[in-house]
Amino acid sequence: MKPVLVLVGRPNVGKSTLFNRLTNSRDALVANYPGLTRDRHYGEGYIGKKSFIIIDTGGFEPEVKKGIMHEMTKQTKQAIIESDIIIFIVDGRQGLVEQDKLITNFLRKSGQPIVLVINKSENINSSISLDFYELGIGNPHIISALYGNGIKNFLENILTIE
Ligand code: GDP
Ligand code: MG
Repeated sequence: MKPVLVLVGRPNVGKSTLFNRLTNSRDALVANYPGLTRDRHYGEGYIGKKSFIIIDTGGFEPEVKKGIMHEMTKQTKQAIIESDIIIFIVDGRQGLVEQDKLITNFLRKSGQPIVLVINKSENINSSISLDFYELGIGNPHIISALYGNGIKNFLENILTIE
């Protein structure tokens, strides 16, 4: 089976930019995989000959209990259940924020492997990324979804997890 990756993180960290960079087809995929729901945004990506499924999500704010953000959080939780690997994206330009810690605590409870990705890193000083070690989920992968830096390396690394 192809590994299923889910992109999780606060709104605006660059999940959809990464999704678009990594994927092509959507509808064919949903049609061919019983069990995938149309409510979520799926794509298929390749690294060499190996392919993987990737799920984009709307954003995640576990402490918000009503409104659109709550709906998105529910969708995200469901996507996590469908996935094999959680790609947790943070914003390297903003640095570590409280919300990232809340999301980390939530993701840990899933028991699934979590890969930490620091996006928007095309111009950041590597010392900023040291703050993210505080999350306690291991070495961050440093990428720029917009410009493509670090993406190939990142994919090669995570797809050996499976
Ligand atoms: P999402 O809400 O997490 O899906 O975030 P989006 O993919 O919609 O991106 C939010 C904003 O961040 C957009 O203006 C993107 O162009 C910008 N963005 C995404 N990735 C990068 C990056 O690697 N570097 C920079 N500088 N901006 C980025
Ligand atoms: Mg998005």
